[in-house]
Amino acid sequence: MNVPPHKPLVYIISAPSGSGKSTLVNELLKKVSDLEFSISYTTRSPRGSETNGRQYFFVSRAEFEKMIAEDAFLEHAEVFGNYYGTARCFLQKAEEHGRDLLLDIDVQGAKQIQDKVPKATSIFILPPNRKILEERLRKRSEDADEVIERRLDKATSEIANYTRYNYILINDQLEDSIKLLRAIVRGERLVRAGHPLSEEEKKVVALGDCCRLANVRDRLKQILDSFNPPAGSGTA
Ligand code: ADP
Ligand code: 5GP
Repeated sequence: MNVPPHKPLVYIISAPSGSGKSTLVNELLKKVSDLEFSISYTTRSPRGSETNGRQYFFVSRAEFEKMIAEDAFLEHAEVFGNYYGTARCFLQKAEEHGRDLLLDIDVQGAKQIQDKVPKATSIFILPPNRKILEERLRKRSEDADEVIERRLDKATSEIANYTRYNYILINDQLEDSIKLLRAIVRGERLVRAGHPLSEEEKKVVALGDCCRLANVRDRLKQILDSFNPPAGSGTA
């Protein structure tokens, strides 16, 4: 009997820099099986303990542009003055390995993937408010003050794209956020498998559903207001 090829589920995760995306993605990959992380190509220099082929493939602008010309990218974008891109081969590899694929990409890349893979599940991670985002960026101690200011400005424009995502995960308490992210990933697998769900499985789906846009509207409004204070609120 022929086994149909595995059609990988694609999960897109985006977030303003400093929201805790890398922390959450690392925890997720430890806890969920059969999920491959798509290692992006970038022209930015490695930071801290980053190594080539682990967090990113670090390439020159000329190498990146050659890959664009060869149509090697499923999507690519310029972020903070550097190129970033997802190589097509990762989707093929996930299919061959019978695994799902996790993309950590910015909002521009997410739009491109949503056009090419309409069934992709998209998750937007947000900090509880602007002040906490600034604290996390400072605590990470990776950036100079002016870079932090730039990241905060960019966060304000990125956050405006939240409506394009299926799930909004507000990263307040880390342990809760890890549980929610895991539930989203497991829940999508369970629902798409299309078989009747056990009581435990229904709870997983319900937990993930807590992050659906319709269920986070009130908190979302507070977060958006912290980035774009309403006129006359005196908190600009
Ligand atoms: P990103 O990948 O979104 O840029 P990081 O994962 O590097 O963000 O997180 C930024 C900083 O915030 C790190 O120092 C990280 O340890 C911290 N952090 C992440 N999530 C939380 C959380 N829920 N509560 C407090 N600190 C957090
Ligand atoms: P960083 O330089 O902080 O690792 O990442 C900066 C931004 O680039 C983050 O928003 C990250 O999600 C995004 N990014 C990383 N890889 C890719 C990619 O392959 N494509 C796109 N479009 N964005 C990416």
